Amino acid sequence: MLNKELLYATIQKFGVEIDDNAFKRLDKYAEMLVETNKSFNLTAITEPDDVTVKHFADCLALFGMVDIPENAKIIDVGTGAGFPGLVFLLTRPDIKMTFLDSTKKKLGFIQNVLDETGVKAEVVHARAEEAGQNPQYREKYDFATARAVANLTNLSEYCLPFVKVGGEFISMKAAASDDEIKSAENAIGLLGGKIKNDTVFDLTEEMPRRIIEIKKISQTPTKYPRPSAKIAKNPIK
Ligand code: SAM
Repeated sequence: MLNKELLYATIQKFGVEIDDNAFKRLDKYAEMLVETNKSFNLTAITEPDDVTVKHFADCLALFGMVDIPENAKIIDVGTGAGFPGLVFLLTRPDIKMTFLDSTKKKLGFIQNVLDETGVKAEVVHARAEEAGQNPQYREKYDFATARAVANLTNLSEYCLPFVKVGGEFISMKAAASDDEIKSAENAIGLLGGKIKNDTVFDLTEEMPRRIIEIKKISQTPTKYPRPSAKIAKNPIK
């Protein structure tokens, strides 16, 4: 399913290499994604080269930019069909991954891929705003990741509560304007974070991407995350 040559060539530009076993697991995932997508909408991207670059290489490129230590605990918030969390885990099964999404059916797909590839992880069906107030998940992770879930202000309220002080929230975006980032700065500070790196890069020609790394420097005040309706109606200014 995946175009191996294209995948390796694309991620090599970011200094990322994967071994054959990782490729086999990722390829199985890609095959299941496209097959399941015929009966249940998981992605609009289904053409093999597009799946290879826009989903798999896009997620793998992060390994060239952020050092993820062995056995790191990661929560992938709004993981959907498993991006980026499932790509990370199938490449690096040492990672302790939690997949979080509010749509149960998508998590069912992730569980099927985990069963098929023999890799273990935790799958949580909840809204981030609720799980972030649950002591089982709050400030328990080295990293929270999110790709294409919400604007950076609201996403920071969803994600920073999960991160331990000293850990990081990593936001992966196809395109994020400077304005979006500027207007999130106050919220990030209030939630205990600080922007550490903001990297704009081209995945391939004319495919801009942006990775914003936010370091957790102090505990998130207990009132955050607020209930969904409040976040939607009254984003942190
Ligand atoms: N991260 C995946 C990707 O890059 O392909 C999925 C992106 S999809 C556009 C957004 C996902 O976030 C959906 O699966 C949706 O159910 C989930 N989501 C949105 N808001 C959420 C929330 N507050 N808590 C948990 N999941 C949420």
